[in-house]
Amino acid sequence: MEKEILFSHLEEHREEIFAWGKLFFQTAELGFQEYSTAAQITALLDQWQIPYEKNIAMTGIRATLGREGYHIAFVSDMDALPRQSGIGNVHSCGHSIQTVLALSLLKVLKETKLAEETGCRISFFFTPAEEFIDFAFRDKLIAQGKLRYRSGKQNMIAQGCFDDVDCVLSAHANGEQDTLFDIQSTLTGFLAKKAVFLGKSAHSGAAPHLGRNALHGAILCQNAFAFLKEHFPPEAGLRLHPVLTEQSGTVNIIPDRVVLETYLRANDTDTLMKAAAEADNCVRHCAAALGLECEIETAPGYLPLRQSSALNAIVRENILLHCKKEDLLENVVSGASGDIGDLSFLLPTIQMGFSGIEGQFHHDAFAIRDQENCYLRTAKVLLGVCFDLMTEPKLRLYPEKFSEKKAQWQKIMAQTPISSPIE
Ligand SMILES: [Zn+2]
Ligand SMILES: [Zn+2]
Repeated sequence: MEKEILFSHLEEHREEIFAWGKLFFQTAELGFQEYSTAAQITALLDQWQIPYEKNIAMTGIRATLGREGYHIAFVSDMDALPRQSGIGNVHSCGHSIQTVLALSLLKVLKETKLAEETGCRISFFFTPAEEFIDFAFRDKLIAQGKLRYRSGKQNMIAQGCFDDVDCVLSAHANGEQDTLFDIQSTLTGFLAKKAVFLGKSAHSGAAPHLGRNALHGAILCQNAFAFLKEHFPPEAGLRLHPVLTEQSGTVNIIPDRVVLETYLRANDTDTLMKAAAEADNCVRHCAAALGLECEIETAPGYLPLRQSSALNAIVRENILLHCKKEDLLENVVSGASGDIGDLSFLLPTIQMGFSGIEGQFHHDAFAIRDQENCYLRTAKVLLGVCFDLMTEPKLRLYPEKFSEKKAQWQKIMAQTPISSPIE
């Protein structure tokens, strides 16, 4: 079989694919509530007689072609964002395009039986809740035991959905206007820290010496956080912006409780973990220096996206079958984050970027401008990558130390409130 056969099958479905594009763009649902999106996906899978598992992490779906052998995962997000107007939702991150790409690949690979004929497997993961929002709703689901974490992929990882996967392919829209694709871009990782400084209230004029001012601890700690940035090189991308979110006391009462919160962001997981530990030290020691107590809570966010350069070399070749070198951007450093970062921590992963949208991301005016690039050209690149991985065993990437990394990931995710009384 030649790669071109895949492309001609795709071309036969051109109008159908554009119709799905409109349908899924209009079906904009928030994370863990993508019920109509999921129903539309499973209706097509039923029609094509493709086996699948549904209701994974609420609304997620996994559909597999092939029975054994090298196992590729194609991951596509399902969720949308609330409109700024407050009424309804909108696919302003372009996740509906990913759903359509997955369906297009599924349709072509089913028709051509590529996975079966090469003795490979490809699983399509339709993943809920990529946008890190709506915490009250998600935390309620966690409290009810329906979820463990706030994001779709994190729950699917925890449930073992990716345990037998060899590599991960994904694609996300980018905001570029002058190029068609990007590869090897980064996404930043982040986590949230909440530091509670606990002192003793007293009359601020008559007897401040009888109190212990919690605000002083928070101010000292803000300075320590600022100095901490010097411990990391610029390329580590460490960002830390603490804000005071709660404070007791009045002008004549020494505050006994002050809460300082910050996101920590970094371009790599080692920096993120090292900075998190150093930030804890700042809190503990600043509190101790002033005779205060403190409590630290850490909430996991997403890990940085570290793409597999070997996999991206294959993506690059396939992109250049469809466009010129000038149409391809490489090594873009992005301040955005995604739960694809968590997968990239565990498995060889890529997320190629494709252009063809207009308006800004996460804005109501987001629209799909270039259907040809978003759907067809991107699908051809991805089909080409699948073809290469399935037909040329020497190109295949395999996970390294998966169980060790998964244990490490679970540890990162399990960061629970640490109470740190000072002796
Ligand atoms: Zn987004
Ligand atoms: Zn997105």
